[in-house]
This record gives sequence, structure tokens and C-alpha cells, in this order.
Amino acid sequence: MSDSTTEENSGYQLVPTRLQESCGDGTVRCHLCLWRCKLRHGQRGFCQTHVNRHGRLYNLSYGILSAIDVGAIEDKPVRHFRPGTRVMSVGSYGCNFRCQGCHNLEISWGVSELDRLARGESAAAWASPEKLVETALAWGVQGIAFTYSEPAVWLEYVLDAARLARQAGLYTVYVSNSFVTAEALELVAPVIDVLCSDIKSLDDNFYKGICGAASVEAVLDSIHTAHKLGIHVETRTNIIPGHNDDEDGLRRISRWIARTLGADSPWHITRFFPAYRLGHLPMTPTPIMHRAAAMAREEGLRHVYVYDDKGCDCAAENLPVAEYLRADPETVHVTRKCQADCCGEAGILLKKYERQEPGT
Ligand code: SF4
Ligand code: SF4
Repeated sequence: MSDSTTEENSGYQLVPTRLQESCGDGTVRCHLCLWRCKLRHGQRGFCQTHVNRHGRLYNLSYGILSAIDVGAIEDKPVRHFRPGTRVMSVGSYGCNFRCQGCHNLEISWGVSELDRLARGESAAAWASPEKLVETALAWGVQGIAFTYSEPAVWLEYVLDAARLARQAGLYTVYVSNSFVTAEALELVAPVIDVLCSDIKSLDDNFYKGICGAASVEAVLDSIHTAHKLGIHVETRTNIIPGHNDDEDGLRRISRWIARTLGADSPWHITRFFPAYRLGHLPMTPTPIMHRAAAMAREEGLRHVYVYDDKGCDCAAENLPVAEYLRADPETVHVTRKCQADCCGEAGILLKKYERQEPGT
């Protein structure tokens, strides 16, 4: 770590990747997600988060926090697990998708910060699993959600933190794109209470566009596996104008949920706000969201939620993560919702993640 290493990140270290398979000649395959990257010494996986060092894979992001916040579990969105409780949300860097309209770009792709971690030059906030749980308890929340970036590529930390959280009486939420292996889900199942998963589309081309290795079937299989493993599953579809807003496609998503996860399985329909390479698109018009909900009810789904809010998740004033870890509960959650028109051509304002520690 750099000279600016603080008390918070002094424990940083590379941690061996949990699901790795030696292929000989120093080449190793990662089985955390369905990319199943095969890496030689010095190579990093598609997520940029796992690196082969002399024939062994390591996670670069163990304990590294990119964002932290506190709010209602309903904001995840999760509505049928411990409603009315508050949850601490945390994320790191790295994702196994490359969505053209990603709102968490700087942390999900997170290449710059992961490069700095790989070079030992990062001053990102670090929290041991113990510190994370201690912070959640101090803030008086009832659960911890692993979100913002993709928790599947942060699995080593998620497992340790979630196990401690459970022991401390907290519930755990895993917000994922579900491009994960069954082996990883089996590791997660004993310590994760809730999977909040995207179903982005039922069109293979949509998934291929954001991750060449992905297919609808693979994603749906993973969601179904999580359900069969006993994890409480809620699904979400963000409707993007011109990309996944055709009525037949939306109807087929709800039909799959009703038939596979059951009529009581909640489906959350959220509004797209322009961001990154899809910054030129409009926000999702209200009528298609309600049309999708009506079709879902026709297909038998009993719990369909439309998020017809006009405000995006831009935070106008937020503290650096390390400050949050030191903060008392009253100063947490200073996030302000912005008006939708702040999300201009350049995409959503990522102020939540932009402010740096002074001097970095
Ligand atoms: S987590 Fe996925 S993308 Fe990252 S190295 Fe492993 S298989 Fe590849
Ligand atoms: S899966 Fe989510 S975090 Fe990852 S690139 Fe897509 S929108 Fe961003």
C-alpha cells in the first residue's frame, strides 16, 4: 500500500481465490463465475479482480470498500424479507459484466482502482470482516447487503463477512447479476439470506452484448439454483428503452418467474436512467413499466412492484468511505436524491464515489 496507508487499510493483503483449479504449467482456472477464466502468471480475469501469481489465483479486493450506505431493505429492492428493517450496503471494485448503461461504472468496472491495488498503490478504504460487522452493529442496522459492484467476484470477503454477520444476528443480502457458478452459490447459500438478482432480458443477444460468455439460460439456471438452495430470491428488471422494453420479452420474464420461482416470488420493475454509453437514451417512460406489471399479473405473479420514481440514485453530498467507517450513526446516510434532470448526456453523476480523501 502507499505511504497514505491508514489504520483502516493497514490489514490489506492478497487472499487466495476460493474456487480455483490448477491446469498445469502454472495456468489456473477460476470457478467463481461463469466466465471460468483460465489465467497464466501475471494475468487478471475479466473482472480484473483475480490475478494469477506464480500459479495461484488471488483476490485483489478482499476488504476493499468502494461505497457504503445505510437505508431501508426495500431500497435494494427487497420487499418480502424482514420488511421495515434497515440494512448497511457495501460494495468493492469489479464486475464480470460490462453493461453499456452501468450506473456504478467507476466501481463496478473499477479498473483504475484495481490497477492501483495490483501495484500496491491504492489508498482505498479497507475494513476487515470484523470491522464491517462492528460498524453495522454500531449503526443499529439489522442486515448487511453486498451490492454496488458484483459480489460474485468479491466472494472471499463476502463469505467471511457474511459468516460473522450471521453470528452477530444480522441478515445478509447479495445483489447480483447471477452470472455465477453453482459451486459459488453452494458456498454462499449457508451464509446469505437473500439474493436480489437482475433478470436483464430473456434475449441472448442482450446478454452477449454485455458479456460475450453470458447466455440467458446460464443466468436463469443460477437464479433457479439459488432458489433451490433455499436462498430467498427476489428479481429485478431495469427496463431500458429500445433494448429490453418489448412487451413479449417482458411478459416472458414474468412467466419464467411465475413458473420457476413461484407466483409469490416478487418481481421489481425499475426505471432506467441514462448513463455512460446509453446516456443518449431517455428515461423509461411510465406506461411500459405499468404495462409490464399488468402482464406479469396476467401471468400469475402476485407481487409486482413498479419503481416509478423520478429521482435517480445520485448522491449530492457523501463522505469518503473511510469517513463513514469512523462516523456515528447520525451522520450516516447523508445521501440526497437528485432530480432526474441531473442525469444528462454524460450520464449519471457519480458523486457518491467521486469525492476522494484529501491529499490522494
Ligand atoms: S470471478 Fe469470473 S471474471 Fe473474475 S477471474 Fe473468476 S471467472 Fe474470471
Ligand atoms: S452487472 Fe451491474 S454493476 Fe456490473 S456492469 Fe452491469 S450494471 Fe454495472
